[in-house]
Amino acid sequence: MRLSRYFLPTLKEVPKEAEIASHRLMLRAGMIRQESAGIYSWLPLGYSVLKKIEIIVRREQDRAGFVEMLMPTIQPADLWRFSGRYDDYGKEMLRIQDRHQNEMLYGPTNEEMITNLFKATARSYRDVPKRLYHIQWKFRDELRPRFGVMRGREFLMKDAYSFDYDVAGARRSYYRQFIAYLRIFSSFGLKAIPMIADTGPIGGDLSHEFLVLANTGESSIFCDKALIGQSIPGDNIDYEREDLEELAKAWTGKYAATEEKHDPYQFESEVSPDHRLTARGIEVGHIFYFGSKYSEPMRAFLQTREKGQVPLQMGSYGIGISRLIGAIIEVFHDESGIIWPESVAPFHVGIINLKQGDTGVDSLCERLYAQCLSTGIEVLYDDTGERAGSKFKNMDLIGLPWQLIVGPNGLSSNLVEFKHRLTGAIELLSPESAINKLVHGR
Ligand code: ATP
Ligand code: MG
Repeated sequence: MRLSRYFLPTLKEVPKEAEIASHRLMLRAGMIRQESAGIYSWLPLGYSVLKKIEIIVRREQDRAGFVEMLMPTIQPADLWRFSGRYDDYGKEMLRIQDRHQNEMLYGPTNEEMITNLFKATARSYRDVPKRLYHIQWKFRDELRPRFGVMRGREFLMKDAYSFDYDVAGARRSYYRQFIAYLRIFSSFGLKAIPMIADTGPIGGDLSHEFLVLANTGESSIFCDKALIGQSIPGDNIDYEREDLEELAKAWTGKYAATEEKHDPYQFESEVSPDHRLTARGIEVGHIFYFGSKYSEPMRAFLQTREKGQVPLQMGSYGIGISRLIGAIIEVFHDESGIIWPESVAPFHVGIINLKQGDTGVDSLCERLYAQCLSTGIEVLYDDTGERAGSKFKNMDLIGLPWQLIVGPNGLSSNLVEFKHRLTGAIELLSPESAINKLVHGR
């Protein structure tokens, strides 16, 4: 992509309304634009990161045996009356009327819709297990939308749902997501710690929130430090055959709780003083086993051999895809801007032309640009007529992992500067070896 043709409205000033680094940087780097409180347009740079996150989430959901579908954003109110949540949801729910005065709503989540949808086809225990997910926009009329995409009103969520006929099956579905979540967050370079969460009136211990450590996080967390260094299940994980609940014990066996579930006495008796970590965190995901909470009132039953009609055993599993971008930036930035992990970087390399209009520099830049495109390296070429200083600042701000800096000085000795955004280290390389490094040895 040529910067001259791209749409990257970066800001020089720090926007006043933005209180935390990720919000400031997303506005300054031209990733998002606020249209109304908690509602954003995703500009090209932001949207490309959002899509990259989706790809990773999708890959890991598929791998864990969940199947993608898509439900609408607008739902009929009656579905929610059926489950009893229409009134409970209160003011967070955006309620709408269509031209026939039908009551509708913009979905804050999809348990009711998918339960209703699934029950229309499932009759017997042979129709389960089934595990589905979608990635769709949600709307919650939050009391205090803030911190940019971190707490928006309109936000993108991956929500998955599992259907089983008994508790043992439902637990297996649950731990598929538990392991998949560990893998998803670590793909972004994040250390997300699963913490015991409230299960509300249903009871039991099967709900975990996944929190990323960050000083600006809205949750207080208490956990065993050992959880931070825990190694994550690799690509060879077998979701069908392995005992995932057993595997999860490396996490569930250690103390980790947010404020709501924190028990100071247990914390002190289970965790040695040098292992106690008290910090702040961002909730990026939440998984939940809730049994027959929706299937009972919505009359979603299955015929079984031993027990006759039983209600479906269900779980739901959310990830805040748009919030994740905020969380990633909170963890990966410095005073000059964002530092994208390779897995979600909007482009892998930025080419900086230090003397636009100089025949030699222009033609070398064009050559490098063409080579990136032909070798599949995602590249943003700053071919604008801006000053060198402002090009450097902009490139650091948008945080691409690598920079290729081309100017008249290096040209005579056939050298370009190859800069690593994370460390700031600069190597002088021939254009060929720079490309070679981008392709093979990053
Ligand atoms: P919170 O406690 O932060 O309000 P929640 O517990 O209400 O979130 P869930 O219903 O568990 O949220 O939704 C699943 C995921 O969706 C959350 O883990 C979070 O990552 C994301 N999410 C929830 N609310 C928002 C929001 N207003 N803006 C962005 N992401 C959100
Ligand atoms: Mg939650």
